[in-house]
Amino acid sequence: AAKTQGRGNFQFFSPAMNRATHERLLLENRLWQGLEQREFELYLQAQIDLSDRHVIGAEALLRWHHPELGMVSPDRFIPIAEESGLILALGDWVLQEAVGLLQRWRSAGLGHLRLAVNLSARQCHGGGLLPLLDRLLADSGIDPALLELEITESAAMQDPERSRELLRELRARGIKVAIDDFGTGYSSLSYLKLFEIDRIKIDRGFVKDIESDPNDAVIVAATIALAHSLGLEVIAEGVETEAQSDFLRNKRCDEAQGYLFARPLPVPAFEEFAHPALASAAP
Ligand code: C2E
Ligand code: MG
Ligand code: MG
Ligand code: MG
Repeated sequence: AAKTQGRGNFQFFSPAMNRATHERLLLENRLWQGLEQREFELYLQAQIDLSDRHVIGAEALLRWHHPELGMVSPDRFIPIAEESGLILALGDWVLQEAVGLLQRWRSAGLGHLRLAVNLSARQCHGGGLLPLLDRLLADSGIDPALLELEITESAAMQDPERSRELLRELRARGIKVAIDDFGTGYSSLSYLKLFEIDRIKIDRGFVKDIESDPNDAVIVAATIALAHSLGLEVIAEGVETEAQSDFLRNKRCDEAQGYLFARPLPVPAFEEFAHPALASAAP
């Protein structure tokens, strides 16, 4: 049909855009179905103490196994879930699963582990988050300090006033708050003064070239010093080499996460990684 339309014809969508829109709608439908069909799973990536490498906890990372498409990356489906509003239902599911895990760990000898959950912008500004958390905390009886919520700089800055209020409410409940992908949001550092937070997550983009790019090395070292002088803890993401780990430890970075220590793993594999003695002692 597009071929029949000459140069003079105005089209709202180009054929390429139509295709992209079509694919998006298809994926969106499949996402809704996937939620009903229980095609989602939480993987856990260990977060370790850089001084002795013991496992402090994990970050929950969403995985989607579609029967035909196979494993779809969150980088592909989260933006679509976010735009369509599906992220609200999906995000609720993630939080429910996460609190369920913390509850199970308490009676399984893993009660010291912390669990971090990613929040999307829409979840943060939707108004349903606090009532859900209150219900989950009351029903599960978990220690709120074992739950950490990660919010990106850019999500927080979409509506700084509301974010400030939300983060205050979260911390009033004893829940921990981390700023994810720190340094990538092009926002000024002044929000560190505005927001009550516990931890900064240094983005993988800065860690990647720590050894080869002197600017990245300086930025990472300065970020760690800045965070500490504000009384915040620091975790580095995407640590893949011993040299990166050494650099970060020397700069007094508190914690790290990355393929060097562990990939995101299915729950049982993570539990074994975090507590091998316990897993092998199980009947
Ligand atoms: P993120 O929160 O910044 O998560 C870190 C990403 O880096 C994860 O990608 C993780 O698998 C990857 N990663 C960890 N260590 C390494 C490493 O050493 N090297 C490399 N190359 N990559 C590493 P993943 O699992 O594909 O997730 C991508 C993004 O999707 C996340 O970025 C987060 O923004 C979003 N996401 C994942 N799960 C959820 C969720 O439950 N809710 C929401 N709203 N977003 C989620
Ligand atoms: Mg994260
Ligand atoms: Mg991140
Ligand atoms: Mg990221």
